[in-house]
Amino acid sequence: MAGHAVSPAGPAWGTRDTFESVSPATGEVLARYPVDGAREVALAVRRARAAAAWWGGLSYAGRRLRLLAWKSHLTRYLGRLAQVVHDETGKPLDDATLEIVNAVLHLDWAARHAGRVLRPRRVSPGLAMLNQAASVEYQPLGVVGVIGPWNYPVLTPMGSIGYALAAGNAVVFKPSELTPGTGQWLVRSLAEVLLEVFGDTEPVLQLVTGDGATGSALATSGVDKLAFTGSAATARKVLAAAAQTLTPVLAECGGKDALLVAADADLDAAADAAAWGAMSNAGQTCVGIERVYVVDSVYHAFLGKLTERVAALRPGDDPPAAYGPMTLPGQVDVVERHLADAVARGGRAVVGGLDAVHAPYIAPVILVDVPEESAVVREETFGPVVTVTPVASLADAGRLANASPYALGSAVFTRGRRSGLRAARALRAGMTSVNSVLAFVAVPALPFGGVGESGFGRIHGADGLREFSRAKAITRQRMSPLLRTTTFRRTETDTERLVKLVTVLHGRLYQPRKRDRPGRPGA
Ligand code: NAD
Repeated sequence: MAGHAVSPAGPAWGTRDTFESVSPATGEVLARYPVDGAREVALAVRRARAAAAWWGGLSYAGRRLRLLAWKSHLTRYLGRLAQVVHDETGKPLDDATLEIVNAVLHLDWAARHAGRVLRPRRVSPGLAMLNQAASVEYQPLGVVGVIGPWNYPVLTPMGSIGYALAAGNAVVFKPSELTPGTGQWLVRSLAEVLLEVFGDTEPVLQLVTGDGATGSALATSGVDKLAFTGSAATARKVLAAAAQTLTPVLAECGGKDALLVAADADLDAAADAAAWGAMSNAGQTCVGIERVYVVDSVYHAFLGKLTERVAALRPGDDPPAAYGPMTLPGQVDVVERHLADAVARGGRAVVGGLDAVHAPYIAPVILVDVPEESAVVREETFGPVVTVTPVASLADAGRLANASPYALGSAVFTRGRRSGLRAARALRAGMTSVNSVLAFVAVPALPFGGVGESGFGRIHGADGLREFSRAKAITRQRMSPLLRTTTFRRTETDTERLVKLVTVLHGRLYQPRKRDRPGRPGA
């Protein structure tokens, strides 16, 4: 059933109709959930269509009120949700808390800004069409399917769910099969708030659970858009499935983020940020730092500071541990393969090494002297592993950073304001933080998304709201046209006049103005 509850214990255990969520730290079974098939998904989408008509018909103020009430609920019960996230992912409670705080910031921003970003606005019709009043508005798509990953099971889906709801859509959400309880908590909490505070019963956010087959059913269910977050390999399958119904897809995929350190950088700040960016959440962060490129003159000083910080980190399931276990058991093999390949190609571990792996935990690893063609530099490692490589200049660092097929986030450390901006602009990634890591995630007004293997489309910010809307253009004729152009009563004189007008307006060679000076942004 759509919006379902946890299945009761009983004979269904282990059959194909249910699956278990498991603590990655202890192996303990946490709960069981139904495997929703095409029938259940279709039912949820049908119910969502009716809910979307109601939700999309509310005013922006009506939706804002309801979403802000949900936001307050999430904030008040943050501790409970953090515990569910901790249980399912193994990440420390403090990290789960930080993740939920960021999700709250995004929900708040989306709820408050949807009206301003999406409401109808007049645009200039241009001289040739002066007889028209022109306006553009952004209408809801209808039903949005959201497929989520396990590594940030609240923040990542909220980047789609919060913005899609604020834009007036209903949502059917399939969380990762590793974190169904977190997804269920989110869906139930909105339903509770809507019912208890407003008396609303429409299922504007529903849950379907299961693995890739359930996700695939959602991709072909006829939703108006699919927001997918996960690996590039799965994105390809999702796109192929969605092609059958021409369903548009937003793809938020993996990354191989680089951090660049200039000669004038604050090395302590850079080392702190690199340690956090690479190791927090056991490196299982789409915008985690996996490569560091450091200008020669400060390479050894930086490496010393990073080594000191990273060597002090320890994974575990106890509160002082810096990070938790690998959430996805299979990822341990990927990390091992990358480490072995790096060492075989002449790479050296200055912290950790091949013996860092004690599944489900992996101790932190810093690799140096690793050739750029190694798997650990080319592929997403998604573990607590970072490579540090010397380069001749910041420009060279940028070139190596850009040589990756992935392009999601990135970071630059330099004291130079201009050089920082220049380096940030030259990075092919969707987002860059100067003198910090991951800062762009917590600024709700900024769009978030990738290039190349990291995907396409944007969540967050005004772009994120528009991603879940369709632009609607309206012209209203205010008076008869000065020139008759689109009628069979048009004469040769009308066409001659049109050519005269367009020659006056556009025929002269454009004379550069002050604003066209080279070097000015946008020039
Ligand atoms: P995954 O690709 O294995 O699965 C993602 C989701 O897709 C899951 O819900 C899964 O059940 C579903 N799925 C699997 N096969 C499917 C199919 N054929 N059709 C439809 N859905 C299907 O990814 P994961 O292991 O859950 O997440 C880790 C990946 O996600 C990493 O690559 C990480 O970098 C990326 N990620 C990206 C972002 C971002 O915003 N760009 C955020 C978080 C994670």
